[in-house]
Amino acid sequence: MDKNSEAIGIDLGGTNIRVARISRSGQILERIQEHVPRGRDAQLAIIRDSVLRMVTPQSAGVALGFPGRVDVRSGVALTAGYLELKDVTLAAMLREITGLPAVIDTDANLALWAEMKIGAAVGYDEIAMFTIGTGIGGAIASDGKLYYGGGNAGQLGHITVDLHGKSCNCGRRGCVETTSSGTALGELIAASPLAATTRVEDLLALQKNGDRTANELLVQWMAPLRLAVDTAVAVLGSKLVLLGGGLGKAAFEALTLVTRCDSPWFTYEIKAGELGDHAGVIGAGLRAFEA
Ligand SMILES: [Zn+2]
Repeated sequence: MDKNSEAIGIDLGGTNIRVARISRSGQILERIQEHVPRGRDAQLAIIRDSVLRMVTPQSAGVALGFPGRVDVRSGVALTAGYLELKDVTLAAMLREITGLPAVIDTDANLALWAEMKIGAAVGYDEIAMFTIGTGIGGAIASDGKLYYGGGNAGQLGHITVDLHGKSCNCGRRGCVETTSSGTALGELIAASPLAATTRVEDLLALQKNGDRTANELLVQWMAPLRLAVDTAVAVLGSKLVLLGGGLGKAAFEALTLVTRCDSPWFTYEIKAGELGDHAGVIGAGLRAFEA
């Protein structure tokens, strides 16, 4: 194998860390997944141990997707998210332990990068991506490049959809993350007559069979997301809106139940991500070639 023929992608989540060897064409050559423990030292140790298992003589670089805000230029984690890694110089740490070039970015930016390189966004230059999971992440591409603005552009989960809504992790109220994330869906199910174990797939199946409760619940979940998507398009001029993350495909299906505004202001194509849950680790690997 050629030197620099593969790179290491890390998708760090609040629950699991996935690390993979990725080829230049974005194929997963080998992949491991570990549970993320509690505590800063234990979290740093699991990152170190799992990345070292993926280093080979062919490794070109390392990139890590972080589930929170990061300073891409200095490679520092700015917010902890669900982790205890605030202010850690993650890129420097990865460089030190692997001896390879290393960068960090948000998990959403790297997921969008993967979709732009080998997934649903190939051929598009103006893109807004919402990643629907425990929370809602966001990423923007403009002119075919990831858009960082002053450093942390793309927090699309924090578009306000309800002035008097629930309080949000960002310090405000009524962000779309509080109404249309996986967490929000769980709360809607818990407050409904449906069984607490109901999954989104069950809801979609019930809805197709004409179940009114399921239909109302899915519309309630997705109507605020439609507002946020329209707002993002009006502001950014995106031609493609991508729904990614663990719930991206389900959200894409459920969003079709919400009537679309027919004003020409909100003209865009909308797709579900093609790479699903693998987008983060693939995007990190592809980004690592340019670290
Ligand atoms: Zn918020």
